[in-house]
Amino acid sequence: MFLKGKTAIVTGSTSGIGLAIAQALAAEGAAVMINGFGDADAIEKERAALAERSGAGALYDGADMSKPDQIYAMVERCAAELGAPDIVVNNAGIQHVAKIEEFPVEKWDAILAINLSSAWHMMRAAVPHMKAKGWGRIISTASAHSLVASPNKSAYVAAKHGLAGLTKTIALETATHGVTVNCISPGYVWTPLVENQIPDTMASRGLTREQVMNDVLLAAQPTKQFVLPDQVASLALYLCGDAAAGITGANLSVDGGWTAQ
Ligand code: NAD
Repeated sequence: MFLKGKTAIVTGSTSGIGLAIAQALAAEGAAVMINGFGDADAIEKERAALAERSGAGALYDGADMSKPDQIYAMVERCAAELGAPDIVVNNAGIQHVAKIEEFPVEKWDAILAINLSSAWHMMRAAVPHMKAKGWGRIISTASAHSLVASPNKSAYVAAKHGLAGLTKTIALETATHGVTVNCISPGYVWTPLVENQIPDTMASRGLTREQVMNDVLLAAQPTKQFVLPDQVASLALYLCGDAAAGITGANLSVDGGWTAQ
């Protein structure tokens, strides 16, 4: 229970990678604030299970990560009701797949807001708390798409490359304050986000479901295996430990060899 006494906020943690990270942090005794959309009863079940697992409390906040006011209110609510955040995991993210000439402007705006600007606002709100404590961990879920591109994902690739740059900048700004700032860049992880983009990719490329799985999604992943949410969560947990105090400004791949090519 090496995170006993620490408080963590994990954005986009009602599902997929974020939920796995929240569960891993809670299992080490952190109080956790979860966030994201979904069925209210299912979220309450997860929240109660996290509170039980951590023994230090768990809260849910439904802040919409595309709305800066709601982000700042969530961080302040966390500080007031659970403890000032020691650990922030910027994980909320959405995807849209289309050629640039067909890409809806509102999807570009939403992806930039949720996948990139929300992390900037979270850091802006949380860094003063971390500097005051002389300890902090900021981890963002970037993507292999923070390092390389794929067609038809202009907004996602731009946002994730931006997130990697933001990570480096804030790592430099906090380097002497006991705060580390890193991003984890998964390849394809088997979560609802991946499952939900299959129909769009089928339509935009005229492929079957099996062709999208094998020839598009796993085509770039040399292991030919999806990464698992728990594998990403294990690295996030490692980054929260003392052993990782010297890792800051890094972009760590968990991508089955994708970006080695
Ligand atoms: P997911 O769809 O399972 O989870 C996304 C989470 O974000 C959910 O909790 C959802 O409710 C939340 N969310 C979406 N819009 C939001 C908003 N406006 N405000 C607050 N919460 C919001 O997806 P996932 O695959 O677990 O993705 C998590 C992160 O990992 C994303 O940033 C994604 O880009 C990144 N990622 C995923 C993969 C993958 O293959 N699944 C690969 C690389 C990176």
